[in-house]
Amino acid sequence: MKKERISIPQPQSTFLLVKCPKCENEQIVYSMTNTDIECKVCENKIAEKTGGKAKINAVILRRLD
Ligand SMILES: [Zn+2]
Repeated sequence: MKKERISIPQPQSTFLLVKCPKCENEQIVYSMTNTDIECKVCENKIAEKTGGKAKINAVILRRLD
């Protein structure tokens, strides 16, 4: 009997594909950014630095692992 339990550690940081809630532009943001990130199209602030994990103000479509 083979029993394997592989615990996958939560990555500290990841890239996220997000969609701007204002103009629906899709953009990749870094989840641990230490700068504010603005939408390239409408300059809406889609991610805010918090000192740790960024606060995402956009629709997260998926993670890019
Ligand atoms: Zn936008």
